[in-house]
Amino acid sequence: MSILDAILKKNQEFVKTYQNPDLKRGDIPSQKLAVLTCIDARLDGVLQEAMGLQRGDAVFIKTAGNNLNYGEMRSVLTAIYKYDIKTLLVVGHEDCGMGWWGETELRKIMLERGIKKEALEEYDNIEMWLGCFTDARQNVISTIEKLRAYSLTPADLEIRGVYFSLSSGHIEPVL
Ligand SMILES: [Zn+2]
Repeated sequence: MSILDAILKKNQEFVKTYQNPDLKRGDIPSQKLAVLTCIDARLDGVLQEAMGLQRGDAVFIKTAGNNLNYGEMRSVLTAIYKYDIKTLLVVGHEDCGMGWWGETELRKIMLERGIKKEALEEYDNIEMWLGCFTDARQNVISTIEKLRAYSLTPADLEIRGVYFSLSSGHIEPVL
């Protein structure tokens, strides 16, 4: 059975007891909060719980290493203006994959997945292009600085940063 087949099978069971909370479009996110965090699957569900947030309280935006490039900024700006976001929280986390990948390993993995050598030659520094970093807390600060410097970020937006420990569940303020 493929993963999608398994999901569809599970979903047939899910809809039998599903209760639509009927969240109204204009009322959400109720905390006027957007959270920018990492794509790491270990954060799913547990981060909301650690922050005491319920479905509909906040907009969650996920990028690799909670970094922002031009394209990713589009989602942040859409959230801010479409959902009247007043606070943006950047959440870095313990053991982030973007903190321990290296250029050599990246190139090796891509070649193994069938990417042509010539295609890789177009990139001087894939590590930098993907936004790898060495310090997750410093990376949160860098993302916030990028957001604050962006010409389309409103001055009244409160931007804060935290570091989430996957092992202890503790949330530590960074900025
Ligand atoms: Zn991560």
